[in-house]
Amino acid sequence: MKELFSIFNINLTREQIEKFNEFALILEENNKIFNLTSIKEGKETLIKHFLDSSIGVDIFKHNSTIIEIGSGGGFPSVPLMILRDDLKFTLVEATEKKCKYLEKVKLSLGLNCKIINERAEVLGKNDLYRHLFDYSTARAVARLNVLCEYCLPFLKVGGSFIAYKGESNEEVSEAENAIKILGGKLDYVKKYTLPEGCGNRSIIKIDKINLTPVVYPRGNGKERKKPL
Ligand code: SAM
Repeated sequence: MKELFSIFNINLTREQIEKFNEFALILEENNKIFNLTSIKEGKETLIKHFLDSSIGVDIFKHNSTIIEIGSGGGFPSVPLMILRDDLKFTLVEATEKKCKYLEKVKLSLGLNCKIINERAEVLGKNDLYRHLFDYSTARAVARLNVLCEYCLPFLKVGGSFIAYKGESNEEVSEAENAIKILGGKLDYVKKYTLPEGCGNRSIIKIDKINLTPVVYPRGNGKERKKPL
């Protein structure tokens, strides 16, 4: 594990390795019940989930607040929390049983985070959560134009949306309109290749430069049915 992470200049401590091992066990034990990931082989989980989630570790400023949309098995949030105990995460997940699993992970690993069983487009209309966070993040939830409507309303001006994506070339141009309407500005697309043939990925950083107009997110599934 240590060698794989060091390819990306992430130097794991013994305590972090123990936590990753414990997380791997909980994920494996609960996968059959909660249907968390289609990846079952240990090395593949390590690279495609743990390492991939960890690539963004240095993006987040010290002590920042982060809202994750569509946490599922806990990616990228749980690896990021294992690596950075200063980050204050709120995990938003639509499926109740997955939230129960995430509560188990939180308890077992002693993570300091809040878990909310709600849809992003519902929570994003709640004034208590709008324009509140330093960062929002999501991985494998929807196309970028849809994700922008889920994730940008939560950010304060000056915050950033960190999207974990595949190769993403078309998605970025497809999302240009959504980014502008929702108060965002594309900062960068960082491309990387996972080791052992595990594929090409990217991290997209979108900065929040203006408040999101009150009509977004539109709700009632419009984000997916009619993306901006
Ligand atoms: N982020 C995890 C990962 O990278 O492995 C999970 C990805 S899984 C394919 C997508 C997750 O997003 C599911 O658990 C689903 O319930 C959740 N989800 C989808 N749409 C959502 C929404 N609008 N609000 C909250 N959660 C959502």
